Amino acid sequence: QTPAPSTSPSPAPSTSQDAPARPLVHLARVNKHFGSLHVLRDIDLDVAKGEVVVVIGPSGSGKSTLCRAINRLETIDDGVIELDGKPLPAEGKELARLRSDVGMVFQSFNLFAHRSILENVTLGPIKVRKVKPKEAKEQAMALLERVGVASQADKMPAQLSGGQQQRVAIARALAMRPKVILFDEPTSALDPEMVNEVLDVMVALAKEGMTMIVVTHEMGFARKAADRVVFMSDGQIVEQADPESFFTNPQSGRARDFLGKIL
Ligand code: ADP
Ligand code: MG
Repeated sequence: QTPAPSTSPSPAPSTSQDAPARPLVHLARVNKHFGSLHVLRDIDLDVAKGEVVVVIGPSGSGKSTLCRAINRLETIDDGVIELDGKPLPAEGKELARLRSDVGMVFQSFNLFAHRSILENVTLGPIKVRKVKPKEAKEQAMALLERVGVASQADKMPAQLSGGQQQRVAIARALAMRPKVILFDEPTSALDPEMVNEVLDVMVALAKEGMTMIVVTHEMGFARKAADRVVFMSDGQIVEQADPESFFTNPQSGRARDFLGKIL
């Protein structure tokens, strides 16, 4: 016997009752000038918790300035930037707290050259988060393990390859337990054979639910890990879409031109 098709209505989606989730990173009408150069023009960008946003665009379009503004390494002229619903603090302890909430991985590794790999990862937690040294060391070793460089813990940065140093930089950012990590062209200074070892760590992080804003032209990464691609040109967000749509069917002439040059 075939059971009669159920006629009971499926439960109504509960989304109408829930308030929309507040974005973790919120930018509205952000503008920035360097002298007469208008480098960020009315930038609106919301990034949800757990979202991975890839920012792509020609050199000079304002991608690094955007990252630096979110970390308050750069001030803005007007507009709003909020992290987790709060405006970015200007100074003092609050600013130090912001810097630990917003991790940053740069193109040029930026490890402390005169500190061991282990110390590079433990210093921030000990100084800023007041973690006890023993605990900081245990956490750092676990993170170095996770990015595949635990065996290098006692070496100095210069003794490591670029790919290893960049993985240490990621471990160092993670050690601060950030709410979001900004990556500014993290693989563009690496020899080609080291690019994937860094991207693999980033893909794993994305899969684990880390909120990430990643400036990169690595389309493989964008396709594997990004929820959204944001295309910037001349200080503006020109278009944004899921990676597949953006790469296969860019809407603007500027995006088509740009993709024509890098593909
Ligand atoms: P991108 O990362 O997309 O290459 P940037 O954000 O680094 O772009 O730079 C955007 C523009 O702002 C470029 O024209 C750059 O030369 C200029 N610029 C960046 N930083 C400064 C600065 N500190 N002083 C003056 N001009 C700057
Ligand atoms: Mg840049």
